[in-house]
Amino acid sequence: MGQPESPAAPAAPLGGGRRAPTPRRMIGRGALCRCPRCGAKGVFTSWFRLRPRCPGCGLLFVREEGFWLGGYVINMAAGEAGILVLLAVLIGMLANGGISNPLPFVVIGILLATIGPVLTFPPSRTVWVAIYLLMQPLAEDEVVEARAAVALAAIEEQPVATGSGSRWRGRAGRSR
Ligand SMILES: [Zn+2]
Repeated sequence: MGQPESPAAPAAPLGGGRRAPTPRRMIGRGALCRCPRCGAKGVFTSWFRLRPRCPGCGLLFVREEGFWLGGYVINMAAGEAGILVLLAVLIGMLANGGISNPLPFVVIGILLATIGPVLTFPPSRTVWVAIYLLMQPLAEDEVVEARAAVALAAIEEQPVATGSGSRWRGRAGRSR
């Protein structure tokens, strides 16, 4: 009994002793619009805008020129999946005696074609980041860079966190 230790699993080291997440977990995180590497939330600044790096682990999302091509493919496939369902229903109805009024199908089809890709845009990005990370695990220098980015962000957020502690902000009455 007991879990095997699996000593030969060095793929995509996260550093700090953390083990790399499983592929399933990474895709799942991506589907929830989280960072596939560390699971951090808040990787988007808006519906259509991904941060350059993950705020949790410092992963650089765009890892090469033309990176988002795969993201667009996923976005279109996921976004248009509704059209396929609609077509299946349409074909089924035609086979069973026809349709008296095709207009609702046209309207629903147009709605699906336009809204689908918009709704699936954020997860398509993070899922693609996950897939790419699985195909192309981080190189050692990318891991170091990511760690440095997190450290830098932490320093920038707390400009007076170190030292003698004589300059704590937030005392009553000292506004701006
Ligand atoms: Zn992360």
